[in-house]
Amino acid sequence: ENHEDKIDYVFKVVVIGDSAVGKTQLLSRFTKNEFCLDSKSTIGVEFQTRTVTIKGKVVKAQIWDTAGQERYRAVTSAYYRGALGAMIVYDITKRPTFDHVARWVEELRAHADNSIVITLIGNKADLMDQRAVSTEDAVEFAEDQGLFFFETSALSGENVEKAFLRLLEEIYGVI
Ligand code: GDP
Ligand code: MG
Repeated sequence: ENHEDKIDYVFKVVVIGDSAVGKTQLLSRFTKNEFCLDSKSTIGVEFQTRTVTIKGKVVKAQIWDTAGQERYRAVTSAYYRGALGAMIVYDITKRPTFDHVARWVEELRAHADNSIVITLIGNKADLMDQRAVSTEDAVEFAEDQGLFFFETSALSGENVEKAFLRLLEEIYGVI
């Protein structure tokens, strides 16, 4: 069955952040409610979609995933083109992935539209006993930079739906 004709908006969202923080699994959780513990680096697929209803409008979220370019800091401006929202993901158990968030914000400011809505995501919140980034540090950084912030687990699904829907609602509010 084809619902394409009923779609009111298509929102492009880009997911960025260091390698292995869980970007692909967050997408997979949100778009298919699936998770894979042995996921290898992303191959092929450029984006995944999920259609949701926001304030009575049918919104197709087109969520773009980096395909290993994060290792070489080679995400091109084409990747950011037309993006209305972004998720910058770090791993709460790996301090360097949080320290690099500022660089990802700079990347966005350089390549994406000024009005892009940005959400900071501290992923792998299920691994509390290995935590290397406090919630307070992340909240402070997010407030400073004007970013929304959520701690999520792609594994358990905790906060994943909430974070994506909040981002899509915010985009709807600014378009
Ligand atoms: P990407 O390189 O940022 O796309 O990272 P992936 O989505 O490929 O995930 C990297 C690894 O972390 C994989 O082994 C995933 O199974 C694992 N992973 C992703 N999200 C979570 C999570 O929320 N909790 C745990 N414990 N592992 C995760
Ligand atoms: Mg990936």
